[in-house]
Amino acid sequence: MHRRNGIPLGIVLKTLGKVYQPPKTFLHFRTPLDLAVAVILSAQCTDKRVNIVTESILYPKYKTAKDYLSVPREELERDVHSCGTFRMKAKHIQEMCGLIIERHSGKIPRTMEELTALPGIGRKTANVILSAAFDINAGIAVDTHVIRVSQRLGLTTHSDPKKIELDLIPFAPRKEWRRVTTLIISLGRDVCTARKRACIRCPFAKKCPSSLVTGKKDLAKD
Ligand code: SF4
Repeated sequence: MHRRNGIPLGIVLKTLGKVYQPPKTFLHFRTPLDLAVAVILSAQCTDKRVNIVTESILYPKYKTAKDYLSVPREELERDVHSCGTFRMKAKHIQEMCGLIIERHSGKIPRTMEELTALPGIGRKTANVILSAAFDINAGIAVDTHVIRVSQRLGLTTHSDPKKIELDLIPFAPRKEWRRVTTLIISLGRDVCTARKRACIRCPFAKKCPSSLVTGKKDLAKD
């Protein structure tokens, strides 16, 4: 549900579109498989760290699902160690690779249902893969930046990513769904961070229901 004094999503997109030119996704990838691996690694980890690990270690070494299964689990764990929760992430990567070989001839599938049936892939991850790798807008990817900034801007009163996605979807045309995520993430990384609201530099400083400039309380829930 939107707050009554929230800024309409259309205005948010139009305004941010003039300020930021975000990529399809902030994760670097060559193939849908690369992206699926990168999004698994990005849980509880920064995109910057994931990009370092994928580009310097994983992508030169692993090109196909079979490649990821050709090494012992411990070796893959060492390769992804610096992304955190490395045991679970290595497990998910190898299980996902096993399943896509078994069910999809080694290719990443193109539907929400098939993607979310894979280990380590939830709805947010599937939305990122579908939109960035296949140009399919199945939904709006809601990460921690989108949660926080949407709450602050009054676009939602919810904390659950699925409910936030349902709050945003009716207010943006399908072709804009990817931009909803990447533009809001851009604002969240630049001025509306978890640590600090730099409202003085924000294009919504005068109208935002969480603006420090107009003395408002932070609507983001912890
Ligand atoms: S005005 Fe402040 S709280 Fe509102 S979106 Fe901008 S930085 Fe965030």
